[in-house]
Amino acid sequence: MTYVYDFTEGDKDQKDLLGGKGANLAEMTNLGLPVPPGFTISTQACRAYLEVGDLPDGLAGEIDAHLESLEKQMGRRLGEPGDPLLVSVRSGAAVSMPGMMETVLNVGLNDESVRGLAEQSHDERFAMDSYRRLLQMFGATVLGIDSEVFSKALDRLKKDRGSTSDTDLGVEDLRGLVETFKQAIHEHAGRGFPQDPREQLELAMRAVFDSWNTERAALYRRQERIDEGMGTAVNVQAMVFGNRGDDSGSGVAFTRDPASGNQGVYGDYLQNAQGEDVVAGIRNTVSLADMEQIDKASYDGLLTIMNTLEKHYRDMCDIEFTVERGKLWMLQTRVGKRTPGAAFRIGRHMTDEGLIDTDESLRRVTGAQLAQLMFPRFDEKAERSLIAKGMNASPGAAVGKAVFDSDTAVEWAERGEDVILVRKETNPDDLRGMVAAKGILTSRGGKTSHAAVVARGMGRTCVCGAESLDVNSKKKRAKVRGGEPIREGDVISIDGTTGEVFLGSVPVTDSVVMRFLEGEHIDDDLVQAVDRVMTRSDDVRRLRVRANADTPEDAARARRFGAEGIGLCRTEHMFLGERRQLVENLIVAEDEAGQEAALAQLLPMQRDDFRGILEAMDGLPVTIRLIDPPLHEFLPDYTELSVKVALEEDQDDLDGHDQKLLDAVKRLHEQNPMLGLRGVRLGIVIPGLFKMQVRAILEAAADRITAGGDPQPEIMIPLVAAVTELDLVRGQVAEVAADVERERGHAVPHKVGTMIELPRAAVTANEIAKSAEFFSFGTNDLTQMTWGFSRDDVESSFFSRYLEHGIFQVSPFESLDVDGVGRLVRHAARLGRQSNPDLHLGVCGEHGGDPASIHFFDEVGLDYVSCSPFRVPVARLEAGRSALGSSTDATR
Ligand code: PEP
Ligand code: MG
Repeated sequence: MTYVYDFTEGDKDQKDLLGGKGANLAEMTNLGLPVPPGFTISTQACRAYLEVGDLPDGLAGEIDAHLESLEKQMGRRLGEPGDPLLVSVRSGAAVSMPGMMETVLNVGLNDESVRGLAEQSHDERFAMDSYRRLLQMFGATVLGIDSEVFSKALDRLKKDRGSTSDTDLGVEDLRGLVETFKQAIHEHAGRGFPQDPREQLELAMRAVFDSWNTERAALYRRQERIDEGMGTAVNVQAMVFGNRGDDSGSGVAFTRDPASGNQGVYGDYLQNAQGEDVVAGIRNTVSLADMEQIDKASYDGLLTIMNTLEKHYRDMCDIEFTVERGKLWMLQTRVGKRTPGAAFRIGRHMTDEGLIDTDESLRRVTGAQLAQLMFPRFDEKAERSLIAKGMNASPGAAVGKAVFDSDTAVEWAERGEDVILVRKETNPDDLRGMVAAKGILTSRGGKTSHAAVVARGMGRTCVCGAESLDVNSKKKRAKVRGGEPIREGDVISIDGTTGEVFLGSVPVTDSVVMRFLEGEHIDDDLVQAVDRVMTRSDDVRRLRVRANADTPEDAARARRFGAEGIGLCRTEHMFLGERRQLVENLIVAEDEAGQEAALAQLLPMQRDDFRGILEAMDGLPVTIRLIDPPLHEFLPDYTELSVKVALEEDQDDLDGHDQKLLDAVKRLHEQNPMLGLRGVRLGIVIPGLFKMQVRAILEAAADRITAGGDPQPEIMIPLVAAVTELDLVRGQVAEVAADVERERGHAVPHKVGTMIELPRAAVTANEIAKSAEFFSFGTNDLTQMTWGFSRDDVESSFFSRYLEHGIFQVSPFESLDVDGVGRLVRHAARLGRQSNPDLHLGVCGEHGGDPASIHFFDEVGLDYVSCSPFRVPVARLEAGRSALGSSTDATR
């Protein structure tokens, strides 16, 4: 078993063994770049150490051997009193991880060798400064002393000297500081600073290994699904010094602008400093352009190396470097993080430069990045006053006057005002207000609450579950913890990308990408970059993309975004507003004739609804789902109605309709409405209802045929658990279809299928498939029913705890629970196709627009995903990336 590798032995693909930092140091070494020599103690050594709680056999010997060879190469020995070799010790897991121990520099210094360093460098100040840095870093990171103990002592000294910069401190100051730090270590760690350099090295290495198990690191791993057992590597490297005077310095650089993606070098340089100083911001850095003035030779060398690295990695790299007395050294490189805009631009530029092909540029961007580019944003430079934070439910930036009910929202919007609808939570009654508002803010509910789902569907900005707001819609105000309440008419700004709520108006900038995706011609380099990957993605993807849309306007927009049909047209909103009265009439009807009368009034309205949608999606499939929610959602609130009836009784003015309605509300009351009379059950209990809807669909399609169109309706039955339920409804559909055919003189082509959104449906999918032409997985309900989670309640009540404990990394309502719900989907798809090879398969739950879930649906062989119109471009992109075998994130 080998535990330790020289930098000359590894390469960039060995991240699992050598950690990211070690693998890239090895790669640069082998490219012949000036990397100070050193070795990497592997993640395997860490694993072995953590398993037995001590150094594994052989490790110490291997370290000794590598150290010896390093000493030979450098011509100095570690901690040798006269001329010491000093090393840095740095952690480096395969992925960087907050909470891990970072760095100890200058290992090898002690009371004696500090004098040797002073003599060799002819610079006593430099030697003392290096020693105090070692004590400081070792004390804090290895011995676990609060770092403030050291930084406060340093600040005190600077204050005494009337200075703000550490470079103003003289030799004697630093000598005094060394003594202060040594005493502090004694006091706080209960031991002296180890004078033996080899012991320093070993303790630093053990501290890195131990830091794998800090609470923060463990939590981060759980959240990011990083394997607990991976361990971290430790890099030991000969020190080079950026703090040896003004001909020395340290810097960080990017080979392209990580913010815009434009060509050109970007970075910061700090003269006479070690790398830690650059990041800590203790002095002001200068730009690389200024570095050219300070040290032209090092600057030119750096540019050449950056060019080499880009060509080699074929990507934008970020770099850490040090100049020691005019000699340039590379300390780290990796593929650099970038903004979404930069990711797209860099891909395009590198394709044009011939560094990568278009497929690779597609792999390197994500749907999440595209989504961020689609939304208007708050101007980051503008002043803002944060008053609350909630969940980032539907991205975007919205500014408007706060209103607390839908009527006001509609009224004010009609007179041309921008409004933000502020509610505790929303329900279908708020729809008008939500449509009228620029944004929606709620204090309750999670990312699949009504407000969130509807807002995403409309592309409306939404922040939900901002719990610190106490919303009182009666008093038309929201109390803000520790501040003035928001009153009706006060202007607020909400950021649906971050979940932040600001008081006042924060300036907004428009998205060119959105305008382009909506079909506008725009001459812009970002737009061209997006266009190119989208075109490629559409070429390579197997998975089709449809939209969830309930109105002709949404359908048309979805089509502009590239939707290839409608995967879910929910019909329930078509029964609200003025039509609610007709639903009430249907429910309170005393006999069949009464029911039929109510349905007859609904029929022409429904027919118009469907005609519009079929027209907007002419030539493409439109899946229309028959009514699904429990009927009480269309009836007045029980308590309010009881009070009304009681008052009427009191005043001897009883309204017969109200009394009947109250009886109906009582009759239809359910303890668990989501598990009650809804979906296909409605179609069986009140057959006229489904039949009316089917007739409306087929007549609308017949009208479209007459008008020369090409309607492709698909009738979808919700909440089916057993094939017998589906058969009953299919019977109704067939009857209506025969009637319509007779009346119109020709058949109206249509398909009939079902949602798979109950576990029973999934496990009996082979039976159900015999009666269905298509399945559409309703993964919202399927998640709710599989976990036994009420989707309207759990996200805001206890999901944060579940996330903390790592029970899941992301809400299963947001990203498909592949291990549980996903298994049902996979199983049902297979069973369904076994008994009906022509079965068409799709998904229309919220997961249809979630990147990770899209890759899963592609893998299990669904034919399409369906998502809200605004997520259609994201889904197109991810379907393409999935076809290329990329993972959901852009890390490579
Ligand atoms: C589903 O359950 O996934 C679905 C699409 O239906 P709804 O969200 O309307 O219940
Ligand atoms: Mg459902």
